[in-house]
Formats: sequence, structure tokens, C-alpha cells
Amino acid sequence: MNHYYRKSVTELSALLQAGEVSSVELTEHFLERIKAHDEKLNSFITVCEEDALAQAEAADKKLKTGDAPALTGVPIAHKDIFCTRGIRTSCASKMLDNFISPYDATVVSKMKTAGLVMLGKTNMDEFAMGSSNETSYYGSVKNPWNLNTVPGGSSGGSAASVAARITPAATGTDTGGSIRQPAALCGITGLKPTYGRCSRFGMIAFASSLDQAGPMAKTASDCALLLNAMAGFDAKDSTSIEQDVPDYTADLAKPLQGLRIGLPGEYFARDEQGKGMHEDVEAVVKAALQQYKSMGAELIDISLPNSDLSVPAYYVVAPAECSANLSRLDGVRYGYRCDKPKDLNDLYTRSRGEAFGAEVQRRIMIGTYALSSGYYDAYYLKAQQIRQLISDDFRQAFNHVDVIMAPVTPETAFTIGEKSADPISMYLSDIYTIAVNLAGLPALSLPAGFASSSKMPVGLQIIGNHFSEAKLLNVAHQYQQQTDWHTQCPQEFE
Ligand code: GLN
Repeated sequence: MNHYYRKSVTELSALLQAGEVSSVELTEHFLERIKAHDEKLNSFITVCEEDALAQAEAADKKLKTGDAPALTGVPIAHKDIFCTRGIRTSCASKMLDNFISPYDATVVSKMKTAGLVMLGKTNMDEFAMGSSNETSYYGSVKNPWNLNTVPGGSSGGSAASVAARITPAATGTDTGGSIRQPAALCGITGLKPTYGRCSRFGMIAFASSLDQAGPMAKTASDCALLLNAMAGFDAKDSTSIEQDVPDYTADLAKPLQGLRIGLPGEYFARDEQGKGMHEDVEAVVKAALQQYKSMGAELIDISLPNSDLSVPAYYVVAPAECSANLSRLDGVRYGYRCDKPKDLNDLYTRSRGEAFGAEVQRRIMIGTYALSSGYYDAYYLKAQQIRQLISDDFRQAFNHVDVIMAPVTPETAFTIGEKSADPISMYLSDIYTIAVNLAGLPALSLPAGFASSSKMPVGLQIIGNHFSEAKLLNVAHQYQQQTDWHTQCPQEFE
């Protein structure tokens, strides 16, 4: 019995390059695991068995030539927000349930060029709106550590499938925490790169000024390898940054002696009602900080004074942008169309009313309201001004520290259904992740232990200055050299 599923992308790539396993064998191995386990998890919307095996065969041919790129033949899954040519791209919405994309997203085509084999498309919150993966048209995803709990969202299918070892890695997108939060709740490593680092072309837009693609995998070194393949300038995305892509694996081994870690008081504080991060989360995060201290880092108290404004500012900016982005889905050009429309207006309203779920409709309504004349200055403009203040807070902090460390989520994975009737409490679960998107910064979540009461995974967040991905990956990798949280697999999926 082979245990390829336990191996990291880095290890699988070495086995493939050495000819010790073929891509077809690996692809079959993971397709088998998907078949055996995904009924419990619901982490995939589409599995591309035939396509994957054809890609694997092509990868094996390339490997035989002796100059195949590092990731050739490694299987991966893509969040179903990335357009994939000839394959359904649903964004977990009834609206796009019948949509076969005519082209590949840049991230997808870059990963194809790098030789990665696509196993399928992962489940997510509808149009990436959510923190629990409960808003998907295809049903909730289950957290592999406890099937009664959520995996987080919106990249919940990607996180759950990596955690259950039914894919070695997956892509995700992060608009307000959607890579980091599910990575934390499922016990894997996820990186949200700097805004503009990876192309947004072909990644279905939620909030264009915040959306960013990134890798989700077991380890930081896997994320480094994957980011090498994903990142880079793209003329098809006007917000993509024209900056060289370094080799993100180059700095992984650097020692952390003298690293200055900033600890924002606001993220560790409790409010008057004693609310803040759960004490179990706090205990894990503090233990991880001690670990860093023992590795030669210095812990420095800092302040990000406008932190409490990030959730309200985000929940104006993101809905405003989504209301504009989703207006293209009107029942006319592609996607869902209602039955027998009476006239054009009926076609628009019924197609959108019947195909968008409740959370998406709520966001469109909030966003349309915030952008309407008379309210624009009071809401959208104000939120953009707050965004600047939040960016300035980080800029000040990075004058004194190299990275910032914080919790990812206030609590561990909650029970399915627990927050779905209360959108505000759902929005508040993004409290530690959202400011990073408003400021366009890179940040990473890595597994740091388990909560003593719920026994569920807890993540540590590492935030860096713009384009400091190599530093974040180095800081995370060094921790993973000293700890084994990232190697733990949920018992049912062993
Ligand atoms: N949970 C946040 C939201 O619902 C973030 C989602 C995301 O990052 N895509 O908007």
C-alpha cells in the first residue's frame, strides 16, 4: 500500500523527477481517494477523471525528457471560481451551474504550463461570499476534523480536500480571509499573496480591489513551489503588478535570528463583554509565539489603532464591488435563464431572483444601496477613507517590525448551521483577516496546534509588508522545521 497522500508536494515532485512514481499512478491514487472519501466531505463540485489522466500521461512523457519543470505531474485541485476551459465553472452558484468556460484563468493556464495535473474543481461559498462554505448551491462542505463542523470559507472545499489528503494541494482566493480562515479551521497552510501578485484574469470577480489568488497546501515549502507557478505579471489584468517573480523557495532555510515580530494589541484584546479570541485559540497562538522566541525572534508590542473599523469598512466596499461585478449575470448572455419571461424586465429579475442564493442577494442589495446617489459619500467614500487609515496603520508598523503575528480566527470551526441565521456573527468571524485585504498585504496561515476543548485545529497568522511573500514563507517554513502540526492528518482520513 502506497501512502503518497501523506507526502507533500515537494516530496511528490522529487519522486516524480526521480522516476520513482509516475504521474498517472499518482493521479489514480488521488482519484481513488476522492472516490472513497468525498461523499463525506462534499469538497469537490466537479471531478475531472478523464482529463486528469490525459494530463498525467502528457506529464509522464515530459518527465521522461529529463527537463520537466519541478511541478510536472503533481495533481492539484482548483477552486471552482477559476475559469477552466471546457469544464464547468460554477462559482458554487445555480446561476453558473450550466456554465462551461470557453477559456482558462491565467492562474490555471500558468499551472498547466508548469505541468500540474488538475483533479477537479472544489466547492466554495457561492461567489466566494461566506466564511463557512454553507452558501454553496451544491451544499455545505464538512470539516474533515469533525464532520459536524464547517471547514471555513469561502475556499472551504480546497481546505477540506487538502486536509483530508484527497489532493496534495489546491488553489484558493482571498477577498477578506477566504484562503487563511479555512486553512486555519482545517489545519493546513494557506498564503494570500500581495494584491496584484497573481493575475485575476479568469478568476470570477467578487470584489475586484480585494480579490487575490493563492496556494493552499500542507506546508509552507509547498506553498512556495506553487506560488512560483502562479505568480507573475499578466497584461490581461490591469491591476497585476509588473514585478519579477523571485524563486520563493530560495529563502526558506534562512535562520530567524533577530526577526522582529509585531504583536498588535488590538488583535489580542478583549472588549467590555470579554469577547475577543477564544482562550483556547489564544493559548495556541501564544505557544507558537514562544516557539518563535526560542528560535531567536524578538516579540514587539505594536498598535494597529483602526483595526475595529475593518469589518464595517469591508462590508461596505466588498458588497459595493460585488453588486457591480454580478450585474453581468442577467440571464441574457450566459448562465441561468428563467422559464418563459414575459418581458426583458421579468427576464432580469426572475433569472437573478431564482438563481442567486440569499447571501448573494443580501450583498447585492447592500452594495447597490451603498453606491446609490445620496449614499455614496456617506458609505462607499467613507469606507475607502477608512481603508486608507488601515493601510497607514500597517505602514507605520512595518517601520519597526519585519512581520506581524496574530490569530486567524476568533474561534475554532463552528457547528454547521450555528451562524447561518445570523449574518453579523458570521461577518465578525472575519475580524482578524479582513484588514490585510483592505491594505493589499500578503499574509499566511499555518497550523499551530489544537484547541484544548474542541480538539480542532488552530491557525497562526503571519502578515508581511507588500511583496514580502518570500519572508512569510521562510518564517513559516522555519516553524514547520521545529513542529509537526502540519503533518497531522484527521483520523478518518489516515
Ligand atoms: N468571509 C468574507 C466574506 O464573506 C471573505 C470572503 C472571501 O475572502 N472571499 O466576504
